Amino acid sequence: MAVLCLDLDHFKEVNDILGHAAGDNLLCQASARMTATLRSNDMLARLGGDEFAIVQRNIGSPLESSVLAQRLIETLSAPFDLDGNEVLIGVSIGISTRNPGDDTDGETLLQHSDMALYGAKNNGRGTFRHFEQEMNDALIARKKVEVSLRRAISENELELHYQPQVDLQTNTIKGVEALLRWNHKTDGLISPDQFIPLAEECGLIVSIGDWVIREACRQAKDWPDLTFAVNVSPIQFRQGNLVKTVRDALATENVDPKRLEIEITEGVLLSHTDETISTLKELQELGIKIAMDDFGTGYSSLSYLRRFPFDKIKIDKSFTTDLGTCIAADSIIEAVIKLGASMGMTSNAEGVETIEQANLLRDQGCKEVQGFHFSKPMPSASICELLADWEWDTFQKDNEKYYVLNAAETLKG
Ligand code: C2E
Ligand code: CA
Ligand code: CA
Repeated sequence: MAVLCLDLDHFKEVNDILGHAAGDNLLCQASARMTATLRSNDMLARLGGDEFAIVQRNIGSPLESSVLAQRLIETLSAPFDLDGNEVLIGVSIGISTRNPGDDTDGETLLQHSDMALYGAKNNGRGTFRHFEQEMNDALIARKKVEVSLRRAISENELELHYQPQVDLQTNTIKGVEALLRWNHKTDGLISPDQFIPLAEECGLIVSIGDWVIREACRQAKDWPDLTFAVNVSPIQFRQGNLVKTVRDALATENVDPKRLEIEITEGVLLSHTDETISTLKELQELGIKIAMDDFGTGYSSLSYLRRFPFDKIKIDKSFTTDLGTCIAADSIIEAVIKLGASMGMTSNAEGVETIEQANLLRDQGCKEVQGFHFSKPMPSASICELLADWEWDTFQKDNEKYYVLNAAETLKG
């Protein structure tokens, strides 16, 4: 036998745009089409929302469920008529099968087809997939990471490294960006790209993100007047109480809000936009600066500049990397810097790895850079040493202390 899990694509949009009555109508019509595709001893059930399951009994081979799945996809991709509105949806299907002699129980079969469904959706919607043992292994591996990530928080395995941000006009360090590291007991340092997406999926990012803000504020007291930037995930905007967390952390550590900068990516502005913008404004009213991270990599970076008065634009390192090698990259960077300047935003170019890139950026009017050419991210204590080591010559300008980087050469590595 086979168990098929089905999930209608774009059902939520129909509900949101045409209303719940239209949604109900669609569910009835879709069920009728599915029923017409089945044999009499197959069983169709609605699991909830726009999810259905089919039990296909006495099949000769898994191929028969592939054939059924293909037919279901075809019949459900034909247009629906909802009170005169033509609507197109689609369906994704996951399949698990049980062979004779196999004693997999119903619940497991349903779980397996659900995992296969997840795989089908990841392949792009409107497709079907059969369950494979590797899907289960991958899920178990993810669960393991989730468990050890929970432990990481309670056992203080998380730490922040900081990358200096250099002012190109004065050759001074203006600030640092906090970058999260997981110092795993046995696996060593794990980079955020390897665990942040998972932390976002399982909700752990909210407590991790709170910790990052508190920890950065705590360590900021060790460095003289530098600004410090913290990356904030879209989930923290949706689930956490970001303004309170930030306000409390600054107050507890007695740090001037002007020193804190929050970096957000386009993902933050993708949904719940009005709420998000009011949160951003509240943060700005506390005196905190807001930077748009990874500028130019998303779908509509430009339109976001119109919706919110960012203090800083961080040009993604993919543009910096191409500097001097292709006219397009040079022109885009130059235009972004000018655009930012005319809107009162500072520009920061990320991923500067060579002196040539730094010089080109300075010529183009870029204010600030970060990159391995100047320094890799390092622990807080090393930031203090770095400031002390760099033949620094403090000079006063507008009542601020500047640390002068004398020879870029000594900063390499
Ligand atoms: P990001 O915010 O764009 O951070 C810049 C990344 O580029 C960092 O990687 C940094 O180490 C790396 N980088 C800096 N200069 C250079 C360079 O010259 N060349 C190259 N090839 N790379 C350079 P990292 O630390 O692995 O962080 C990756 C991403 O993880 C970050 O990208 C950010 O999106 C995310 N992340 C890091 N810490 C946090 C955090 O505390 N919270 C959240 N939500 N996300 C974080
Ligand atoms: Ca960042
Ligand atoms: Ca970035």
